[in-house]
Amino acid sequence: MENRLRLGPQAGTKLASDFESLADLSKRTFLRAAGLLIAGLITPQGRAHQTLRSTAGPGHKVVVVIFGGVRRAETFSQEGMVNIPHLSGDLIRSALFYSSIRNEGVTAHFNAISSILTGNWQRVDDWGKLAPTTPTVFEQFRKRLGVSRSETWVVASNKALTNLIGASSASNYGPEYGANVVFPKQLMITAVADALRQGRTGNMADRAKVEAELESTLEGANYEGLGWTVFDAAERLDPRVRDTIKEAIATFVHSGGPTSGDELTFLVSREVMLKFSPRLLVVIFSDVEVAHFGSYALHLAGIRTADRLAYQMWQEVEANPEYRGKTTMLVLPEFGRDPDGSTTNGFFNHRANEESTRNTWMMILGSADDKPQIIERPVRHVDLCPTLAGLLGCPPIDAQGSRLLELKV
Ligand SMILES: [Zn+2]
Repeated sequence: MENRLRLGPQAGTKLASDFESLADLSKRTFLRAAGLLIAGLITPQGRAHQTLRSTAGPGHKVVVVIFGGVRRAETFSQEGMVNIPHLSGDLIRSALFYSSIRNEGVTAHFNAISSILTGNWQRVDDWGKLAPTTPTVFEQFRKRLGVSRSETWVVASNKALTNLIGASSASNYGPEYGANVVFPKQLMITAVADALRQGRTGNMADRAKVEAELESTLEGANYEGLGWTVFDAAERLDPRVRDTIKEAIATFVHSGGPTSGDELTFLVSREVMLKFSPRLLVVIFSDVEVAHFGSYALHLAGIRTADRLAYQMWQEVEANPEYRGKTTMLVLPEFGRDPDGSTTNGFFNHRANEESTRNTWMMILGSADDKPQIIERPVRHVDLCPTLAGLLGCPPIDAQGSRLLELKV
């Protein structure tokens, strides 16, 4: 795989440690240090950098990677850097980094994702029983440019979402113009449960292993206090799509390797990229949400997983000829989490009207900007939808958000 921008793993580690030694507790000093580091990296990397950048326009693709709730304290801060070695080490050197991106809406999963995807602060049901009220970027893109459904996908671990995340209830738009929405973990549970029920496990390598897998998956699925009760997306997928996902799930079940929901979401996303090469793919990881169970160690493990999978996603972009050189990838959390000592139980939750909960960051890779840089100007989640629409060549519609001008479209 050609990957000219990437330094070796040791260089990445060194960069991360440089970051830590240069970083200061104050955010401003940290950013200045990061800026210096990036500036130092531009010169030797300049040529490769230019070859990877391309202008947006016809055929331009967009991948959005969303993390669930993570605080700055556990990510882009002096003490948090250790949890995100790939973002802060391998990726930031070629990134446009927004150091302050604000969720000024409802800091619950469905509303947060809906706001990102529509460009308006959505205040609908927290558990996804009601669709966003204004058109999603999927609908805008598909309707206005006559694009087929297979060009727009959401692959999500987060079970606080429902398939209503793929299209709005706005008149003249709606599901007819929505995205494919896939919840791989739910599909796996369904598939394995069906297989067990119907005794079709003879072709599975080890039935006991599969059963144990199913059991742990079901146990681990309840971190938000709800199971996968609202689910009918599988029936809506066309057979070609369903087969693709089944293959990815079979690989996952048979691999005996990683077992987290986010790993499965990554595998399915990769299959979708290989088979359909969609113009717009939104991937939502949520292992970090284990925080709702109160385990700080597992929350940090979730951050490390998301960091690694975001990096692997970028490697897929660079390795796949359908994506390489014509893709913008955005990485951002849905929101932060509550501050330590808050009445809402600190990192467990994300309900407080505090900076720790509302203010996070965003990294943009491979975009049509000229050089890596850090943007300190605060931007908002609702600014993403008009920006994504612009990258896809779709004129923006009226929304609360406005296009980020650092990205050339
Ligand atoms: Zn949550």
